[in-house]
Amino acid sequence: MCGIVGIFSHHPVAPELYDSLVHLQHRGQDAAGMLSCNNKFYTKHGLGLVREIFSPADMVKLHGNMGIAHTRYPTAGGYDISDVQPLWIGSPRGIALAHNGNLVNYKMLAQEMTEVKHRHLNSSIDSEVLLHLLADGLDDHQFAADDESHFFSLLGSSIKNIFSRVEGAYSVVSVIIGKGLVAFRDPHGIRPLVMGERLNADGTKDYIFASETTMFYALGFSVVGDVQPGELVFVNRSGKLFRQVIERKQFSPCIFEYVYFARPDSTLNEIGVYRSRLYMGQKLAQSWKKHYPNDMPDVVIPVPFTSNTAALSFAHELGVRYSEGLYKNPFIGRTFIMPNSEQRSRNVRYKLTPQKSEIENKTVLLVDDSIVRGTTCREIVKMVREFGAKEIYFVSSCPPIKNPCFYGVDMPSQAELIAAHRSTEEIRQYLDVDKLLYQEIDDLVKAVTQRGGHAIENFCMACMDGRYVSGKIEEKEQQILSQRREAERDLA
Ligand code: SF4
Repeated sequence: MCGIVGIFSHHPVAPELYDSLVHLQHRGQDAAGMLSCNNKFYTKHGLGLVREIFSPADMVKLHGNMGIAHTRYPTAGGYDISDVQPLWIGSPRGIALAHNGNLVNYKMLAQEMTEVKHRHLNSSIDSEVLLHLLADGLDDHQFAADDESHFFSLLGSSIKNIFSRVEGAYSVVSVIIGKGLVAFRDPHGIRPLVMGERLNADGTKDYIFASETTMFYALGFSVVGDVQPGELVFVNRSGKLFRQVIERKQFSPCIFEYVYFARPDSTLNEIGVYRSRLYMGQKLAQSWKKHYPNDMPDVVIPVPFTSNTAALSFAHELGVRYSEGLYKNPFIGRTFIMPNSEQRSRNVRYKLTPQKSEIENKTVLLVDDSIVRGTTCREIVKMVREFGAKEIYFVSSCPPIKNPCFYGVDMPSQAELIAAHRSTEEIRQYLDVDKLLYQEIDDLVKAVTQRGGHAIENFCMACMDGRYVSGKIEEKEQQILSQRREAERDLA
């Protein structure tokens, strides 16, 4: 998972790209990059957190009123600076791109690029293939035409070709020298991409495209809505907006964005993340009352911060006290994003401190957003036991995660997913809790869609139900993809 942003402005864009990256930091903490453009590209890339990479001096050097930026959480490629986006090429056109998602058929496309077209790929990430495919589609005499609608139609043909060749999840922002800012989303709309606008005093408009709406308020943009599945949006050099749905398939956004990834103040696909998490907690509590009517905890404690919202409504529905019994040090990154499991376990104790007054001699119910590998949850349970809990119950806002994600969340193999090879009772024993309850799949869907007013036809829930929305991925292919990703992570 990554965060992307593209801005077309009437003012220097770099400071606003920086602010946007800070508001997208939760989507990737390994690296970040920024690229601005006037009649050439200016770039800065680095490893680490956004605030560690960019300085005020960089803002002065990143010229131009248009640009794109990226926060990286690797789900393809390694941890090298060459894999940090935005990526760009200077010939045959100056084109730069930032991508959120994962391409299932990347290896085949990369092989074609290198072995048939004899290109050199600078990185080991799938996004570079997208960049070349986009550039190939623009290598045409119409590129130079002054008529912008001609160029938009050329751009549309290039995107159509990408849709026909590329399998997987891709939300993309791009800048093209001499032309403008581009945004597009795969035909299933798996990864999010939202759009905003800002009216200037002189009547001109600025535009923003981003993975989430988190920076809109701070930068003065109002929400226009989502880039639709299969839609191409283009802002030309004079600020004129062009939009067209090139090819739309069944709209199937990732439901895990609502469970875990997105910030609670985001609105994605017309659905507020905060509200959906409140409903997740409520549904889960109703299920608890059905399964365990005689087992009421003394306190409900969230595993901070993602679960706070669901725990709040869970406690309310149960009529039990909500307690912040685990204090989280906000200066250490989210453990799910830590690259290997040993590091993850060690970081749990640095990150979370149990509060004795809230735990000792109490029956504690812990609410977590999900149980992926189980190692972090087990460590937390151990800590809560050490602080004197009488009994520990554990609930997960997300149903069991049994299958790998090939669409941009780093859960690449069944081997590391605890629910892929253990029953709920076995997981309860592994976590060492007295009771364990998972959210039902139907309840999760109802929680996210409860308020209506959206165009979602079917969520991607492949990690829970095994149905890959971009097309069936055969078991053998899954094994190859899983092994490849594991090998990349081992090299990190
Ligand atoms: Fe999201 Fe799971 Fe689908 Fe991946 S497989 S896109 S995490 S719902």
